[in-house]
Amino acid sequence: MLEKTVIDILGVPVTPFSMREAVIWLMNRVNRHIPTQVVTANAEIIMLANENPAYMSLLKAADLVLPDGAGTVWAGRKLGYHVPERVAGYDLFIEILKYAAVHGERIYFFGAAPGIAEAAREKAQELAPGVRIVGVRNGYFKESEAPEIIRKINESGADILFAALGAPKQEFWLRDHRDDLAPFLRIGLGGSFDVLAGKTVRAPKWMQEASLEWLYRLYKQPSRLGRMMALPRFVLAVLKAKKRGK
Ligand code: UDP
Repeated sequence: MLEKTVIDILGVPVTPFSMREAVIWLMNRVNRHIPTQVVTANAEIIMLANENPAYMSLLKAADLVLPDGAGTVWAGRKLGYHVPERVAGYDLFIEILKYAAVHGERIYFFGAAPGIAEAAREKAQELAPGVRIVGVRNGYFKESEAPEIIRKINESGADILFAALGAPKQEFWLRDHRDDLAPFLRIGLGGSFDVLAGKTVRAPKWMQEASLEWLYRLYKQPSRLGRMMALPRFVLAVLKAKKRGK
């Protein structure tokens, strides 16, 4: 079994798995029926955790926190750790779809606006022929509907639940219903259904490789500026932590 190590990025325990290692570790947990909540942590998430103690304890208790975003990878390396690569939520989503198409795990799509999860399911079937997506549900609901939503998820027989409600909502929801949910693997995916459905477009590969995906997101959605101000604050906090020798 692949050993899970953690590195400390501003108090958040991040596991510097490569994409391949992450998929192997997670699918092994599915095979062994171990409930597993995954967070792909970008700089915004790590900053939010530093401002919100409830979110910080959630991340500390999560089964796996992966290094999403150029910021998290940069921070890990700056602090002296070996971080092989970025494991973005969307990329992990696609890798798991492909794996499940071969090995037969059943998947549930929960989240995004009405119609998006259905469109994402169609695209998933093109991308990973044979993948078993056993249910979909949009992400707009009242908490009083949660028992019904959970019943449908569980009755679908899904092994894997992708919850695309945006951070931190998806993480709190998955944590709060941890003991009621039947799928073994639960992953928060932010806007990934929108991307797969073609409703939003990801940055070109060269921008992703130049660690500029954040800039592309800002250009497409200027309303993200407020949230993105977390990024320079994150950089400063990491440099300070490094100076303190942590
Ligand atoms: N969303 C949802 N339910 C909500 C709020 C948001 O399903 O109550 C969806 C929204 O439609 C979008 C995703 O969550 O598909 C959030 O996308 P965003 O890119 O903002 O998430 P991030 O990756 O930045 O957390």
